[in-house]
Amino acid sequence: MRTPKVRELGEALRSLFSRPYTIRFPYEPSVPPEAFRGKPKFVEADCIGCGACAQVCPANAIEVVDHVEDGKGRRVLTIHHDHCIFCGQCHRYCTTLEGVVLTNEFDTGTYDRTLAVSTVEKELVICQECGEVIATVDQIRWVAQRLGPKAFGNMGLALMLSQDLGLVAESMRDPARALERGDNVSFLCPRCRREVILYEQWGP
Ligand code: SF4
Ligand code: SF4
Repeated sequence: MRTPKVRELGEALRSLFSRPYTIRFPYEPSVPPEAFRGKPKFVEADCIGCGACAQVCPANAIEVVDHVEDGKGRRVLTIHHDHCIFCGQCHRYCTTLEGVVLTNEFDTGTYDRTLAVSTVEKELVICQECGEVIATVDQIRWVAQRLGPKAFGNMGLALMLSQDLGLVAESMRDPARALERGDNVSFLCPRCRREVILYEQWGP
């Protein structure tokens, strides 16, 4: 159409003398609305390092790496903010509900991708026989606390609670020695615990 309509012309003239609808970010701050889904961040005190958030993350933005050396281990969970799509699934399905939360931070631009990360680190419980990773200390403690007295029905949970109460000292088992009945009272992965029980039932 060659001639603009009168209404459109009026709007164009009005917009010339009115403030723009858009804001001047980044030259002035922009306050996101409540419940805005921004940059996710770990809450160290509430995260138990279970890794469930990494399993549900649709963008594979959460990495879980276990480092094990000399019977000791630590798990490092990393959120790669340059992969994150701010969907909030990690928070929604977090085992403790508050181990990871979405902040209202949205200005995540950087020229260096190695800086676009947040991490949380957790101590691991390692099988004292084969060195397999069992879970994080916080995860076992969290399950034990939720179960209350029932936790004493599971040797790993009972051991963790007893250590917390100062009833037993942290011990290292000599993996060169063959498994025997007494080893039931140590941190064992399910496979090694089965071996102890089978050995007790049927012998070597
Ligand atoms: S507690 Fe929540 S944030 Fe921490 S690893 Fe488990 S699912 Fe992820
Ligand atoms: S907000 Fe979504 S994409 Fe980002 S880390 Fe959480 S689950 Fe992954």
